[in-house]
Amino acid sequence: MKEIAILGSTGSIGTQALDVIAAHSDKFRVVALAAYENDGLLEQQIKQFNPQIAVLVNKDAANRLTSRYRGNTLILAGEEGLIEAATHKKASIVLTSMVGFAGLKPTLAAIEAGKDIALANKETLVAAGSLVTARAKANQVRILPVDSEHSAILQCLCGENRRNIKRIILTASGGPFRGFTKEQLSCVTVSDCLRHPNWAMGQKITVDSATMANKGLEVIEARWLFNVDYDKIDVVIHPQSIIHSMVEFTDGAIMAQLGKPDMRIPIQYALAYPERIASKMTGLDFQQVTSLTFEQPNHGVFPALDMAITAGKNAGTMPCVFNAANEEAVYAFLKGKIKFEDITDIIKHVMDRHVFISEPDVDQISQADLWARSLAAEVMN
Ligand code: MG
Repeated sequence: MKEIAILGSTGSIGTQALDVIAAHSDKFRVVALAAYENDGLLEQQIKQFNPQIAVLVNKDAANRLTSRYRGNTLILAGEEGLIEAATHKKASIVLTSMVGFAGLKPTLAAIEAGKDIALANKETLVAAGSLVTARAKANQVRILPVDSEHSAILQCLCGENRRNIKRIILTASGGPFRGFTKEQLSCVTVSDCLRHPNWAMGQKITVDSATMANKGLEVIEARWLFNVDYDKIDVVIHPQSIIHSMVEFTDGAIMAQLGKPDMRIPIQYALAYPERIASKMTGLDFQQVTSLTFEQPNHGVFPALDMAITAGKNAGTMPCVFNAANEEAVYAFLKGKIKFEDITDIIKHVMDRHVFISEPDVDQISQADLWARSLAAEVMN
């Protein structure tokens, strides 16, 4: 029996992880759940999964739940509660599925407590990849990707000597605006953006997919998860989202992992790792899947991809700054405050003004994050 803590249990990844856990109640047990503010859904999850603790980061939401809940689960609030969930003594693996930079501190706390990490919060590795992977190594914990591309790469690398990697090929759907011109992009709306062709995901990542910032974040994530240089990571557009990523080896062979675009498959792989367990999820029907196509990303129309890679190569605090400016711009876009094309302009403005620190500690990373957010907010006002 694997005991699991889920940070971000009411979001898209969290709810799908609970589906996986419910389908395998003989293998997985939930010991801690944490959410930001959705007390109604968290209460249902408490009733179904009976964790030892449940956390709402928003204290008003926690008060609402505490005032009506009568049961055995201990309800906690705030950042301290989140750290309690991340370090719960019974948990052997922590699924980090909260959105954005807010995932960094609880992820580091879980690593220091010796928990394996099922990582769905890619922003943590983007902002602090060097630090997080070093702490994971020192504490002998595994960081297992939940991101479908990185799960594919991990599966392609099973049994392989990593010295034989020639390159990693990350696939990208291209998002809802694949093939658009700059002129067409200038008039897209929030609802156009939230209509992803293949994947059902949370709002922030769906906008990131539309700008291709998501693929940029994933290049940085791959650099840290698999310890490869940026010049060995390529991105190819594959609109069907059937091949989830590939690895080319030094002998010219290429391994690919294929499957339906269903996040429950990589979630289950991370939770069960290194086992592979049976499920009701099915593979592909090749009467329906009749072609797999590939194209090159349009770097001119989607500059966020190259900006992320540039930030990654600069290293230090720069990827953190890229991420923070992107988060602020995406939330402003979702609120209707800025246009779609403004997102990348804001990131560029903030990156251009950042004086970066090459080997930051956690406090310096947090300061860079705050600096980038306040500059982004200033530009947007
Ligand atoms: Mg992905």
